[in-house]
Amino acid sequence: MPRTDAELLELLQNRFQQVNKQVARSCEKVGRDPKGVQLVAVTKSVSARVIRLVQQLGYIKFGENRPQTLWAKAEELPGVEWHFIGHLQRNKIDRTVPLLTLFHSVDSARLLQSLAEFARKQLLSPRILLEFNCSREEAKGGFAPQELPAMAELVREANPLRIEGLMTMAAYGADPEATRPTFQELRQLRDQLQQQTGVMLPELSMGMSHDYPIAVEEGATLIRVGSNLFEGLEAE
Ligand SMILES: *Cc1c(COP(=O)(O)O)cnc(C)c1O
Repeated sequence: MPRTDAELLELLQNRFQQVNKQVARSCEKVGRDPKGVQLVAVTKSVSARVIRLVQQLGYIKFGENRPQTLWAKAEELPGVEWHFIGHLQRNKIDRTVPLLTLFHSVDSARLLQSLAEFARKQLLSPRILLEFNCSREEAKGGFAPQELPAMAELVREANPLRIEGLMTMAAYGADPEATRPTFQELRQLRDQLQQQTGVMLPELSMGMSHDYPIAVEEGATLIRVGSNLFEGLEAE
C-alpha cells in the first residue's frame, strides 16, 4: 500500500525530530550551541515527491551525490539549497556548480583548479569544502592527510573559490565510537590549514546516520544524514 501524503508527512516529521533531538543531546554533552550544526538531508535514495514533503516541513538543505540526479531534481524542485557530496567529473562542472549552495566533496587538486578556472570565467565564487580521506580506505576519494603541507598554496591560489572548510567520511564499522579519531583528525587538519594559510575554514562536514552523534561532539558544523531520515521510503 502506498502511503498518503499525510502519512508520509507525519513519519518524516518524527524522523527529523529524532535527529534534531540527538543533535541537541550531543551538543549538550560538549557544551555546544545546536544552532552551530546544520542538518543536510541526503535525498539520494528518495523521489521528488518525498523531498517536496520535507520542504513543507520547513527543511530546505538537501544533499545529492550524483550529478544527473541532482540536475533532474533541481529542475523539479525550486527553493532548495543543494549540497553536492559525491565525486564530480570535471566535464560536469558547468552544469552542476551553478546549482549548488555548497560543494562538500572537492577531492583533488585537478578538480580544484578546474573549478577555479570555471569560476573566473563565469564570474562566480562557489562555496566549497575540501574532502580528506582520514579513514585511509583505498576506495574513498579525497586528499590524503599527508598532502596537507602542499595544500597551503592551493588554498591561497583558489581565488575566486570560497574555501570554507573540510569534509570527511568515516569508515563504516559496528561501533560508531571507533569513528571519533577520524573526526578529531579532520578538525586538526582544519586548524593546521587555517594557520598555514590565514584563510578562515569554519565548516566541518562530518557525520552520517551511523556516526553523526560522535561527529557533533567532535565539532561537526554540517552533518549529512540519509538513511535515518529516509529508510524504507525509496519507493514513495
Ligand atoms: C549517502 C551519503 C551520506 C548519507 O549516508 P547515510 O548513512 O544514509 O546517512 C552522507 N555522505 C555521503 C558522502 C554520502 O554519499
